[in-house]
Amino acid sequence: MKLTIGHIYPDLLNLYGDQGNIRCLEMRLKWRGLEAEVIPILAGEPIDFKKMDILLLGGGSDREQKIACRYLLEYKEDFRTYAGDNGVLLAVCGGYQLLGTHYRTKDGYIRGLGLLDIYTEWAPRRLVKNIILESPLSPCPVVGFENHGGRTYIGNHRPFGKVLFGAGNTGKSGYEGVLYKNVLGTYLHGPLLPRNPHICDHLLKQALKRRYGQDIALSPLWDQMEQLASLDMLARSGGGRKYAFS
Ligand code: GLN
Repeated sequence: MKLTIGHIYPDLLNLYGDQGNIRCLEMRLKWRGLEAEVIPILAGEPIDFKKMDILLLGGGSDREQKIACRYLLEYKEDFRTYAGDNGVLLAVCGGYQLLGTHYRTKDGYIRGLGLLDIYTEWAPRRLVKNIILESPLSPCPVVGFENHGGRTYIGNHRPFGKVLFGAGNTGKSGYEGVLYKNVLGTYLHGPLLPRNPHICDHLLKQALKRRYGQDIALSPLWDQMEQLASLDMLARSGGGRKYAFS
């Protein structure tokens, strides 16, 4: 069994080691004897959606997002079809903002893919912190780091999680990220997946199910180091006592 992972515009959307998400997806497949093909797609290169099982849109500065979107808008309908067909798409920070209708920046306007009815607006104080969530996709808290000027308003969409510590979508709503079918938009850098193996495995299972038409069980991996790192962060934020890892 094999999954194909497309990394969209690593030359533009590449903040805070987001490409570690790609490595994590790849290695967690290979460690289980499954195959993984990673395809970096540079800005301006064609995206073959039919071939893809998982797509990653990473974070970027406002300037890079603007350039990325000029290329991405050409694929607006392809993204819609892919997401509608349960394609797995992980969009982090700048990439997350691009899923919406628009991002009103400090000095301009970036038209988004309009894949989801969400939008982002710049506000003066950047939200830069560690962040911890409770998410329906993970049995234990999800940890990460956020650094964004944009505030994202998700309307009636489902959030990725409830904020236990940190700012999240707007700093006020109490929620973080967005979920739609197998699209996950989030502000969590870290990178997200190496720090939160449950989320990585959730995405892999969804992609395997879509490709092979059945639930595929993933064998357990040794994730104690990641769990200890999460626990440490929880303890430092004062929320550690509520959770216990086996
Ligand atoms: N440029 C966007 C913002 O500042 C996203 C930044 C990022 O990807 N970290 O809101």
